[in-house]
Amino acid sequence: MADIAYQAATQHESKQHDSSDKITLVKARGSLVWDDRGREYIDCTAQAWSNNLGANDPRVIEAAMAQMREMTHIRPNFGSLAHTRLVAKLREISPASLNQMGFALHGSLAGEMAMKLAFKNRPQAQNLIVLQDGYHGRSLATLGASWPHPNNPFLAIQPRFTRVPHPYPYRTRMGMDPEAESQLCLGLLEDTIQKGVDGPVAAVMMEPIQGNGGHIEFPRSYYRGVREICDRLGVLLIFDEVQTGFGRMGTMWAAEYYDVVPDIIVFGKGIGGGFPLAGILADDRLKWFDEGEEALTFGHFPVSLAAGYATVEAIQADKLCERARDSGEYATARLRDMQEHRKLIGDVRCPGLMASIELVTDRTTKAPARREAQEVYRRGVERGVLFGESRYAGLGNLIKVKPPLDIERAQLARALDVLDEVLGEIEEGGQ
Ligand code: PMP
Repeated sequence: MADIAYQAATQHESKQHDSSDKITLVKARGSLVWDDRGREYIDCTAQAWSNNLGANDPRVIEAAMAQMREMTHIRPNFGSLAHTRLVAKLREISPASLNQMGFALHGSLAGEMAMKLAFKNRPQAQNLIVLQDGYHGRSLATLGASWPHPNNPFLAIQPRFTRVPHPYPYRTRMGMDPEAESQLCLGLLEDTIQKGVDGPVAAVMMEPIQGNGGHIEFPRSYYRGVREICDRLGVLLIFDEVQTGFGRMGTMWAAEYYDVVPDIIVFGKGIGGGFPLAGILADDRLKWFDEGEEALTFGHFPVSLAAGYATVEAIQADKLCERARDSGEYATARLRDMQEHRKLIGDVRCPGLMASIELVTDRTTKAPARREAQEVYRRGVERGVLFGESRYAGLGNLIKVKPPLDIERAQLARALDVLDEVLGEIEEGGQ
């Protein structure tokens, strides 16, 4: 990995992006969106992977409208029916002992809530450990917990955390076997907790799959190993499930998929059904905040809480975990098949409907095909498909297919046909 001009890539690509190439969206239904010129697109981004349930679901809109007609804003010092109902609903689906919860309107603030709770429960601790290539948001603290940003203007006022290396099965270090690399990274994590930082560590915070920073899934042994190290050394484990939660992996939580229960889960995006909603689930053993330690004016925004309740109900009623598994298997099979004849596809990564391909100019050197990835995105737009891309993160060479979990099969098939078509054209050097 070291030979890849990693930060230079993000720096270079970000300069090419300005508002003039933005598509103005005006309407959405399910997995489709329309722009101001009436053009229709299949949305493989689910609007920043947030519409796990298709956009503008009438059940969610109606729940939000009903709440709006009664009361739009309730200060968190008061109770609300919307809050009581959502708390009960989340307790139905949360992993066994994670029954305490708090809400915010953004994943970043929920991430900070998780950090605060970890430090509250480890009062002597001085450190938080995160993974290189992780992404936890753009508030000051979560920016500090994410991958290093080139020319970061906020360093002076941003908390800094200790980043440790993580496995990258497609690009293992020194050509190691992925399992050996997983063990190496576990060893480095343990060494860092014990010898790499001053004072005790409050928590290890990680995304089960690194959504923004390269879409990297780790070997199963890594998840179990991190849990074991944290338990042995008295460190809390935080899973940032802002992307992986609420069915995306084919299970309600990645924690369930990997059969590893963290002490705190951060959630966001998919729970809101298109409304801003995020929060944390915390283990019963943890001491909760005292008054005044965590109070946001709109922290219990009842319109979002009501929308969240309706969304989780719909995810359950429509069996979206099963549908994500089913569509994910279909997408994986299609992408693997494409990989046979499209040499630009270096790697296919697909747990659930969290699918991505890593494009390379050469399968032996695995040189990242950044320009080609941008071209796939551009040509997808021309043909009415919005693919996810990664120009700010990782190596900038990913194409992501993460539509709403209830996408119709014909729409998913069409998006994948377009992907195959544009990859073919780019490989042939056509326009
Ligand atoms: N954590 C993860 C894993 C995310 O993907 C994101 C958003 N992309 C966040 C946190 C931050 O969420 P928000 O943008 O709602 O603050």
